[in-house]
Amino acid sequence: MEPKEANQNDSALRVNDGIPQPPAISEESVQRFKSIRRQRLSVDEYVDGILRGDRTILSRAITLVESNLPAHHLLAQEIIQRCLPLSGNSFRIGITGVPGVGKSSFIETLGMHVVEQGHKLAVLAIDPSSERTKGSILGDKTRMENLSSHPQAFIRPSPSAGSLGGVARKTREAIYLCEAAGYDIIFVETVGVGQSETTVHSMVDFFLLLALAGAGDELQGIKRGIMEMADAIVITKADGDNVNRALRAKTELQNALHFFPPSPSGWRPLVQTCSAHLKQGIDEIWQMIEDFQQQVQANGYFDLNRRQQAKFWIHQTLQEMLTHSLYQHHEIIKLIEKLEQEVLQGNITSFEAAQRLFDQYSKLITRKD
Ligand code: GDP
Repeated sequence: MEPKEANQNDSALRVNDGIPQPPAISEESVQRFKSIRRQRLSVDEYVDGILRGDRTILSRAITLVESNLPAHHLLAQEIIQRCLPLSGNSFRIGITGVPGVGKSSFIETLGMHVVEQGHKLAVLAIDPSSERTKGSILGDKTRMENLSSHPQAFIRPSPSAGSLGGVARKTREAIYLCEAAGYDIIFVETVGVGQSETTVHSMVDFFLLLALAGAGDELQGIKRGIMEMADAIVITKADGDNVNRALRAKTELQNALHFFPPSPSGWRPLVQTCSAHLKQGIDEIWQMIEDFQQQVQANGYFDLNRRQQAKFWIHQTLQEMLTHSLYQHHEIIKLIEKLEQEVLQGNITSFEAAQRLFDQYSKLITRKD
């Protein structure tokens, strides 16, 4: 009988050693990267790294901000506290529009224009879809090819889970960290569906709505409430056959905006057209944003708005904390499951279920005190 080993070597099932592949990047840089990734950093190291503008450390700090682990949360809060005095000195621009309107193409083109002017630009995203689909329609870096490889640009996809309130808080905290890292222009991108525009509006200095000229002359899918928040509306894809349509939509929209109440900023919202593909209209849009910035900084609205936003965020944060505290309680989790069944079976009303949950939660927290 043949030795067992020889049999195995002859077997068709034997796995051959592959041909060793040359490393695509040097072994030294791989090791360096791995050791940075592995190392646990102290708060000082995080803060120093962020202030130095180290993008790897900034990214890791944002990952802590996004984490739901209590230990990460504490560490993140310490880092944010230390960075706060050095933040706030950027101009924050919200960019919204329905899927397909051309947000990523626009951000790529406007973003390149901004960095070419010598600014440091951070692009953050709030993506309301990600909670349900666990996938992000925003923040995919490949959509912004030139910008994502530019040394003065930092692009961060949307945190991928949690309530809109939670995601929004994380984005606001990421803004502080980016500002401390020297990014003086921040774009916050969101898909124009549902509540997310209001959330973004409450964390930016300038709110830009992207719109498509429709198949007729009408503008597609713009809700009045969103239009009222906009400091500017940009009609995208104004090229080729679409130019005249875009120009007509611009006139129509500019007329419609005249009937809106004046904004407390003293700024009259403007309508522009642009083609991200042909890089047309981009200079004018950036000029308009700079004009706005000058005007609101001179008339005091910039500071007033930031203070009002800070007040608004007390309540948003508090709501988020209360919700989180309630839903993470193991007794409440069990009770929710039970009461959901009762409601499904028609035994009790939703209100009764909610009331019982609330009462139980109130008891639990008083017991803890
Ligand atoms: P988003 O979903 O809002 O981020 O939109 P994208 O930037 O991904 O663009 C959606 C589609 O519109 C893509 O097929 C783009 O090539 C196209 N698009 C974007 N900007 C322009 C533009 O300036 N002109 C034209 N003709 N097409 C554009």
